[in-house]
Amino acid sequence: MDQNRKKVYIETYGCQMNVSDSEVILSILEGEGYVRTEEMGEADLILANTCSVRDNAEQRIHGRLEVFARERKAGRGALVGIVGCMAERMKESLLESGKVDIVAGPDSYRRLPRLIEAAAPDRPQMDVILSRDETYADIRPVRTDRSGVSAFISIMRGCNNVCSYCVVPYTRGAERSRDPFTIVEEARDVFQRGYREVTLLGQNVDSYLWKSDGCRISFAKLLSMVAAVDPSLRVRFATSHPKDISDEVIETMASTPNICRHIHLPVQSGSDRMLEKMRRKYTREWYLGRVAAIRKAIPDAGITTDVIAGFCSETEEDHRATLSLMEEVGFDWAFMFQYSERPGTLAARNYPDDVPPEVKARRLSEIIELQNRISLQRYRGAIGRTLEVLVEGPSKRDPSQLCGRSSDSKMCVFPAGGHKAGDYVKVKVTDCTSATLVCELV
Ligand code: SAM
Ligand code: SF4
Repeated sequence: MDQNRKKVYIETYGCQMNVSDSEVILSILEGEGYVRTEEMGEADLILANTCSVRDNAEQRIHGRLEVFARERKAGRGALVGIVGCMAERMKESLLESGKVDIVAGPDSYRRLPRLIEAAAPDRPQMDVILSRDETYADIRPVRTDRSGVSAFISIMRGCNNVCSYCVVPYTRGAERSRDPFTIVEEARDVFQRGYREVTLLGQNVDSYLWKSDGCRISFAKLLSMVAAVDPSLRVRFATSHPKDISDEVIETMASTPNICRHIHLPVQSGSDRMLEKMRRKYTREWYLGRVAAIRKAIPDAGITTDVIAGFCSETEEDHRATLSLMEEVGFDWAFMFQYSERPGTLAARNYPDDVPPEVKARRLSEIIELQNRISLQRYRGAIGRTLEVLVEGPSKRDPSQLCGRSSDSKMCVFPAGGHKAGDYVKVKVTDCTSATLVCELV
């Protein structure tokens, strides 16, 4: 490696979309002669790709800024850049801290080289212009996963929903879909380089739509096109929106073996009153109807969700409705959060954040406890079954074992038996915890 090349160190916070964005950023910087380093101390450029979805995510970044500032002083005078959602949300106030040289929003990454060029300790630079059409479609991301098995592919950016609690539409701008042919090309490229799984990413993948020259490609069609790259390429996607997931998508999954049998379908709450206030645009009944349609077409589908505890004015009755919905659906696993008020959102402007912190915390722990119980039941239900698993690499707990996911997205551990990352293996489930299936090779 050329010792004279400049080095970039990047930390990524938040969702899978941010992981994918960091790979785009690295690709753009590589084009400018940068190489990636995992040692902050040897970097010329320190970047944090940030998340604003909850306050605690932002607090963590503020903590990291102190560390970067010390590094900047002590080390080689690296430039410090905050990019992504928090850059977009906080704008000048980040520059005013005096700890940051570059602030770049999610649609400004092509202009990062210019910002870096112009930045100096007394001349911080900012670009937080949101775009209506940027999708980075032509950029070939630098993969940062360690296994070389599973790649993220961003298929759209932004969001046109205005869920009242959510900051994403403000930090990531309006929804836009990426040219499907570049998506298929990217999938083919990673497949040829040995990857065996792609996850198509968007805030609301079901509203993916590409129209050009009389050609109209829906998300269901896109799924088929990506799945057609090769039968041994697994296709996953996230995130589906309960109001938009269509029968066509469900049928496409059911009829295409290499589209994984897993749907992440965030419900947020089981109470119609809360769903209305959250502006989710569906009811509990609608949600349960979508789950029934999925289970009818794909009986072995894994269904997972996101839940928010303690949204504005949530009562014990609303909370119990969430618990009962969780029981009724039987999610395989869930991401569960306390409501965190985000400045500028509809909820922050219109509704008091009036559920006391200790009540939010207690409700969240009840939700987590229930989900752990349900997960254990769901995982126990898999004991005795034979599953096909894509090997991701050594298990973290016991490196003599391998780990990988089943099609319905359950983590499996099993003896190595000469297999390696990227292999498909058949395993039989012998035991489980609420998060892992313990398996033997068949
Ligand atoms: N677009 C996806 C959707 O609608 O399901 C998810 C986007 S968001 C990055 C991921 C999850 O964060 C949401 O599903 C929600 O549960 C949670 N979330 C978003 N805003 C939140 C807030 N203000 N407080 C707590 N959790 C929040
Ligand atoms: Fe946020 Fe709702 Fe858009 Fe998801 S669909 S990113 S929760 S506004």
